[in-house]
Amino acid sequence: MKFKRVRGVKDILPEEVEKINFVVDICRKIVETFGFKEVVLPVLEKIELYQHSIGETTDIVEKQMFKIVARAENETETIVLRPEGTAGIVRMFVENNLKDKYPLKRFFYFGPMFRYERPQKARYREFYQFGVEIFAEAPPSSDFLLIKIANIIFEKLNIKVELEINSIGCVNCRKEYIVELKKELKKSNELLCDVCKNRLERNPLRVFDCKTDVDKIAKLSEKVSLQKYICDSCKKNFDDLITILDENKIRYKIVPTLVRGLDYYNGVVFEYKTQLLDAAQNTICAGGRYDRLISELEPQVKYACGLAFGINRIVEILPKYEKKVESIKVGVAVVDERFLLPSFSIINKLLEKKDVQIVGPFSQKSLKAQLRLFNNENCKYVLIVGEEVKESKVVIKNFFDNIQQTIELKDLEKYII
Ligand SMILES: [Zn+2]
Ligand SMILES: [Zn+2]
Repeated sequence: MKFKRVRGVKDILPEEVEKINFVVDICRKIVETFGFKEVVLPVLEKIELYQHSIGETTDIVEKQMFKIVARAENETETIVLRPEGTAGIVRMFVENNLKDKYPLKRFFYFGPMFRYERPQKARYREFYQFGVEIFAEAPPSSDFLLIKIANIIFEKLNIKVELEINSIGCVNCRKEYIVELKKELKKSNELLCDVCKNRLERNPLRVFDCKTDVDKIAKLSEKVSLQKYICDSCKKNFDDLITILDENKIRYKIVPTLVRGLDYYNGVVFEYKTQLLDAAQNTICAGGRYDRLISELEPQVKYACGLAFGINRIVEILPKYEKKVESIKVGVAVVDERFLLPSFSIINKLLEKKDVQIVGPFSQKSLKAQLRLFNNENCKYVLIVGEEVKESKVVIKNFFDNIQQTIELKDLEKYII
């Protein structure tokens, strides 16, 4: 019987893991210099968390969540595999009262997310995100910090990106806007796709997520632009951020149709795009403010914003990466099984003194086969453990200059350089 992996998921082999670690190590290092602390979020959350935060009429909640229906006694609960990190970290923040525990409320996380989407190149149903969240810091400095961090990281990774930015306003600005948008949508009701007809009544803003009528929706957004309805405070936040970006010579493009497919955002939202991936999945980092969500759940905290990097996509376009410096490899060969035990005591002593990587021993292989394997594994040295061990000696062979000699075990560490 042959087993195949589930559609849309990926086996990540050692070379790619190395690239992922390279990217994530850089992300970690940069955010830690800005005082962010790492948290580990559960993969499993209750469905209500996402219905409330991401929104019931979003694509993610309507169609893309992996659900587990658990029946306990006379209760049924629906648990989902997290589709993103922000809702979970907000729950964690409130549930663990982090606002009182940390003066600086800056956190980051890394791990897999799950969405039941149509698999494509650079789009998987299980994908990795590195996310950062800032609580209790007002705009525009907190938005600016997020953008600054992303820019530093992309610079370090040598990836060219385009920053797109927009303000999607707050509840206040949207009131009038939604009325107008509904009017306009109703005029062209019969032209809308079925999904959008439904959205029109339940959550008209989500028509901008439509994947069927992209052009139609873009025209509509020009006709009824949110920018005309934006309230004074949202306008000020946006303009202030733009001023700081200009002062810092950070390049950006204002894109009025940029809305993000999640209800919890308000005010500034942004996306980083690359030209190296197809338009449908060229966003490699995205974020924005969610002040309303946090203040609703934790009334003493008025501000929150965050961003997340799509690690799989970044790895896919990574131009180059530094391989980890490997420690010296030492092959340990045994002449036959009798020398297995002494070989391990040699290994133990060597590891106490030296930072080396041990390959072997493989007592079921012939000495010749062992040596060939160590050579292929690029070992610098090989220790051959045989009769000499009874006189506290071992044979050491340097594969790089091909010198072989019998040495006293007590001197071993001096030979490994
Ligand atoms: Zn507003
Ligand atoms: Zn539609």
